[in-house]
Amino acid sequence: RTGKKQVTSCQASNNGHEIIPREVHGICDTIVGVLGRMLCQVASQMAIKVMVLDPLENCPASAVAYKHVVGSFDDGATVEDFAKRCGVLTVEIEHVDVATLEKLEQQGVDCQPKASTIRIIQDKYLQKVHFSQHGTPLPDFMQIDDLDSAKRAGELFGYPLMIKSRRLAYDGHGNAVAHSEEEISSSVSVLGGYDRGLYVEKWAPFKKELAVIVARGRDNNISCYPVVETIHKDNICHIVKAPADVSWKIRRLAADVAQKAVSSLEGAGVFAVESFLTKDGQILLNEVAPRPHNSGHHTIESCLTSQYEQHLRAVLGLPLGDPSMKVPAAIMYNLLGEEELAFFLLSFYRINSGELGFSLAHQFIGRALNISGASIHWYDKPEMRKQPRWAI
Ligand code: ADP
Ligand code: MG
Repeated sequence: RTGKKQVTSCQASNNGHEIIPREVHGICDTIVGVLGRMLCQVASQMAIKVMVLDPLENCPASAVAYKHVVGSFDDGATVEDFAKRCGVLTVEIEHVDVATLEKLEQQGVDCQPKASTIRIIQDKYLQKVHFSQHGTPLPDFMQIDDLDSAKRAGELFGYPLMIKSRRLAYDGHGNAVAHSEEEISSSVSVLGGYDRGLYVEKWAPFKKELAVIVARGRDNNISCYPVVETIHKDNICHIVKAPADVSWKIRRLAADVAQKAVSSLEGAGVFAVESFLTKDGQILLNEVAPRPHNSGHHTIESCLTSQYEQHLRAVLGLPLGDPSMKVPAAIMYNLLGEEELAFFLLSFYRINSGELGFSLAHQFIGRALNISGASIHWYDKPEMRKQPRWAI
């Protein structure tokens, strides 16, 4: 993630003649702009013009976007100007200025999903309140304002205790674990203190983490992708196994929970629902993302309709595509940084360390492409950040 925001807009055309009297505009703060780039890629296939607003001159989506407007999404006036050129505005990350979106909606701008959805999702605590009010099973949670309330939560929920930032959290930035009452203060300071807005969750002793991409069209038609298993490393999604190796009962339960959760939100698009499978066979909702998601990257190659195409179809009001897998199973590895590439080359390809050349990337790509059916999406990420580790 660059932390930079992007806005995207799209419009369908056929040899210069519009075939859909609508433009799609998306506000994208992407994983290194990759979600935006992937959205633009599939849009170009359907001659849908995607316009991107991003402060970076050479943002990843810029090469494939119909138009790239250089500008900041943090600047309400810039977004408003941009939105006026759009038919449909869609967000690609929840950490956006929702007040501007609400204002734009009141002025008649077509936001999909709705600003109300973004408002709920972008505050994890509000998200938990919303889903618990809609009968979704989730880990117990409680807002904390000071050490006393945090200690009370520890007494109620036990340890380890998951402390989370309400806002601006991603890839585990925004989570800290307290293993005991004594550790509360240090975990809270890692997160920037109580003033940042924190809440706690009871530890979910999960057997597996599952995710479901749910698509909802403008006609409220809902369609679920196969349930996948996600394996995180340093809080970043590292491996996705599709479909998840769980019983059909668990798959059905996870899909039901996901579908019900998405039904309680407003607007069209794809939504990713992360959940925990507990040892006693319960599905507890972790969080929902109102956009394409890294647990759905595999859909590009493995499903009849990719999550990106589905998102465009949904927000444009086109018929939703078939989310079924076209291969029996797929796996996605997310490799971050040279160290991980080296590790992969050494352990997966079993090459000797002496054989590791300077360009790990080229070696890796060359080897991976020798595998029939393997595809590479090279993010070309300028900087690779080290993640702080936490573990129990
Ligand atoms: P992010 O926004 O960074 O994805 P999440 O809230 O999804 O944050 O948490 C990241 C990871 O932390 C989860 O995928 C899961 O592995 C772990 N986690 C989150 N909440 C809990 C919990 N209540 N109990 C146990 N593990 C948790
Ligand atoms: Mg998550």
